[in-house]
Amino acid sequence: MSVRLRFAPSPTGYLHIGGLRTALYDFLYAKGHDGKYILRIEDTDQTRYVEGAVENLISSLTWAGIVHDEGVFIENGKIVQKGEFGPYIQSERLDIYKKYIQILLDKGYAYYCFCTKERLDEVREKQRAEGKTPMYDRHCRNMSKEEVQNRIDAGQEYVIRLVVPDNKDITWTDPVKGQITINSSEVDDQVLIKSDGFPTYHFAVVIDDHLMGITHAVRGEEWLTSTPKQKLLYDYFGFEMPQFIHLPTVLNKDRKKLSKRQGDVATSDFKDKGYLPEALVNYLALVGWSPKDNKELLSMDELIAEFDFDRVSKTGGIFDVDKLNFINNHYIKESDAKRIAEIAVPSIVKAGLMTEEQTKDRFDWIVLVTDALKERLNYVSEIVSHMNIFFGDTVTFETDEAEAIVKQEHVKGLLEAFIAELDAIDDIDEEFTKNIFNILKKKTGAKGKNLFMPVRCAVTGQQHGPDMGKILIALGKEKTINRLKELVTRL
Ligand code: GLU
Repeated sequence: MSVRLRFAPSPTGYLHIGGLRTALYDFLYAKGHDGKYILRIEDTDQTRYVEGAVENLISSLTWAGIVHDEGVFIENGKIVQKGEFGPYIQSERLDIYKKYIQILLDKGYAYYCFCTKERLDEVREKQRAEGKTPMYDRHCRNMSKEEVQNRIDAGQEYVIRLVVPDNKDITWTDPVKGQITINSSEVDDQVLIKSDGFPTYHFAVVIDDHLMGITHAVRGEEWLTSTPKQKLLYDYFGFEMPQFIHLPTVLNKDRKKLSKRQGDVATSDFKDKGYLPEALVNYLALVGWSPKDNKELLSMDELIAEFDFDRVSKTGGIFDVDKLNFINNHYIKESDAKRIAEIAVPSIVKAGLMTEEQTKDRFDWIVLVTDALKERLNYVSEIVSHMNIFFGDTVTFETDEAEAIVKQEHVKGLLEAFIAELDAIDDIDEEFTKNIFNILKKKTGAKGKNLFMPVRCAVTGQQHGPDMGKILIALGKEKTINRLKELVTRL
């Protein structure tokens, strides 16, 4: 039997980086086992629905290269569904849930509950006061059929709850967590159908995973305690349970759950900052999993070939931004400058360095600048803090030391010789940058540090920086001459 895995997010806003990792593991396992990867939208909690969230989820996944075979897609700006097991949006499956809840009601595995919110609050409060975990007190569990019918006929609001047996060990095996046993006395008589007629997550997920032929249900470990309820449902229906796999939580360096308050957690935050999808995916795969040889740089194809759940760690994976930056820098360096420049444009406009119009007219120049700077970038939007050396016709010294280097006696002559060489060419090209230091050395006698440092400081105002040849090419003849001439008047 071929494997079928699903990612089943709720459209409540954005795609959390932990969710992206779940989707990635689903995808890697499915692709590595000749299986199918499905995207289902779990929107049964209508109060948490956020407009545009489905589109955001799908565009984040698509950007990351985690593309599903079946389920919900966006085509020409519209939500469409593809596959034999649809609909893949839970709010469109209400009739299906109705049919299955009736089976449970008929078998006595579910019951109507008419308790009001006020009563439930009271019960909970009392339990809390007695130091007990708040749970439904099963008030309606043994109501007679007649009374149930009378109340329904009278238009009373109700929910439908799961019958949880008394004191029964519920056991299952998780490839990551091992064997787990939870006693049913810790399990609440879970609401399966809410008063608005919608199923709860717990009910819908079981019906859908079963009907969609899911073989592996992969999710964050925060769902571990809901598994006994779901296992009971599988048993009541006589369905075969998929392999449940609970992934360790993605933690920050303080070993706390990665949360929005501490910074970036949405996939789109990383995209906007200028993390490359292949870098984020590569790094995320390693948060809680490692390949056999502990290799750190892996392409999607390598991840597919290497990934398995048996090497997922039991405990939380630490999200280490420094390591992500290291990996991202590696992929930025490997990418061509044009691709990085395209990613950089929105940040350049946002920082007010250029207008949108200018970025279009001078895109080729942005590519040259990017080519000079990209090896220094942890993420692409950082480019704006390195770009200042490319603007303006006068040089501002970053440090007193840089200024002192230029103010050395021999430098004026050196810069004048440089200006003369520049005057003689049409524009700066690679050939020129390769030869210029040799020429200046011959003409002025300056060499080594006394040659390179003054030129760098005179042109950029900085002692350290990107490759000098690339800087000169990006600056061009005119700007370089203007800067040097202005500077020479000050020496
Ligand atoms: N809808 C759940 C979520 O938002 C999915 C949990 C599961 O995969 O069972 O995370």
